Amino acid sequence: MFKKVLIANRGEIALRIQRACRELGIKSVVVYSEADRDAKYVRLADEAVCIGPAPSAQSYLSMPAIIATAEVTDAEAIHPGYGFLSENADFAERVERSGFTFIGPTPESIRLMGDKVSAKQAMIRAGVPCVPGSEGALPEDPKEIIKIARSVGYPVIIKAAGGGGGRGMRVVHTEAALVHAVQTTRAEAGAAFGNPEVYMEKFLENPRHVEIQILADTHKNAVWLGERDCSMQRRHQKIIEEAPAPGIPRRAIEKVGDRCAAACKKMGYRGAGTFEFLYENGEFYFIEMNTRVQVEHPVTEMVTGIDIVQQQIKIAAGEKLPFTQRQIEMRGHAIECRINAEDPVKFIPSPGRITMWHAPGGPGVRVDSHAYTNYFVPPNYDSMIGKIIVHGDTREQALARMRIALSETVVEGIQTNIPLHRELMADAKFIEGGTSIHYLEGWMAAHKR
Ligand code: ADP
Repeated sequence: MFKKVLIANRGEIALRIQRACRELGIKSVVVYSEADRDAKYVRLADEAVCIGPAPSAQSYLSMPAIIATAEVTDAEAIHPGYGFLSENADFAERVERSGFTFIGPTPESIRLMGDKVSAKQAMIRAGVPCVPGSEGALPEDPKEIIKIARSVGYPVIIKAAGGGGGRGMRVVHTEAALVHAVQTTRAEAGAAFGNPEVYMEKFLENPRHVEIQILADTHKNAVWLGERDCSMQRRHQKIIEEAPAPGIPRRAIEKVGDRCAAACKKMGYRGAGTFEFLYENGEFYFIEMNTRVQVEHPVTEMVTGIDIVQQQIKIAAGEKLPFTQRQIEMRGHAIECRINAEDPVKFIPSPGRITMWHAPGGPGVRVDSHAYTNYFVPPNYDSMIGKIIVHGDTREQALARMRIALSETVVEGIQTNIPLHRELMADAKFIEGGTSIHYLEGWMAAHKR
């Protein structure tokens, strides 16, 4: 096992990784920007190194600064967390070439999954069900594009091969709008992602977002750890996640889960990963794979009792998965609410000083957050300041615990989306379970948000 790991991230996930290292008896080094000097994970770290000013490009995205810090602190491995450099194949390659272990998949896997066209082709080969659409990238010829759309059937969605974070997509309802939409998406994708390739999918009108967590070691073992329902989204950003997904037959989930684990073995995938699916009318459709730990990983940890971050580290150290698929059991129900520093009505970020922070507690309540009283939320990064996760024997109990947890939570000095979460936990449709990815935006329109 490693003696020292460098954490190339910030915020709650830096703290989460630090805790996993501590439990494994590993020393951790955190890197931080000038804006994060007073962050909790910096204060709690075994070692902390300032690597640059607030803008991410000069700190958390600076490969030379991060790798140089690993050198001078004698770290053996680098955990990239999520966001920032976590899905950057060049970074993974540079880490390994510099003689460190990248806690994550191989650069080849990251590259394969980072391009959505090649990812989808790999999934089709591995027998994972995908959204019907174009075979690979769309051709230049407008006549060909029209032909493909006719065979897929309207509405269609044009997606950038290099897209991410909900950007680089356009829905097309009619043939008249098709060619122009493809051209515009291409131009935007070229400018935003450096790759103008786009592809076409059938646009599913009312799906749910259901994803499968996997773990694969370097000894040809791969397992799936159940699913998460992440349908509560605004502008493709998840805000509530839960496990298991309410109302989906276990047999259907087991079938797709087994396919995901088999695909990992076939691809020689290693580490943690998530297969994201849209689920509609009883069918799963793969949309993309994330080759890193996800924000919402705690709900899976709560129902399986497996520490995903520790497993990532152990896999990177060459250890075998300590359980087989049969030994993985899902118990009870878990829900996560992402707490964002933002105006709960207008959704504009609300950085600044937290004058009072009180986190909830009690049975089945977990809070992953780097916030504390007097913490200054910098304006430079993502607005998420923490996650409240609850576990109960049943979904009803988990919902009740989340309501209590939210009522106990106090955040003063900045605005947060906690009022929105309180309303959603009391919403009849959410309580019923199984709402689609469009539900929250519809709800907001109905509530004049
Ligand atoms: P990103 O990498 O930007 O997150 P995804 O491919 O995961 O892109 O898609 C993001 C979101 O866009 C999905 O969660 C879903 O809301 C919507 N979406 C993507 N593909 C489709 C589709 N074929 N039909 C309907 N909605 C889609």
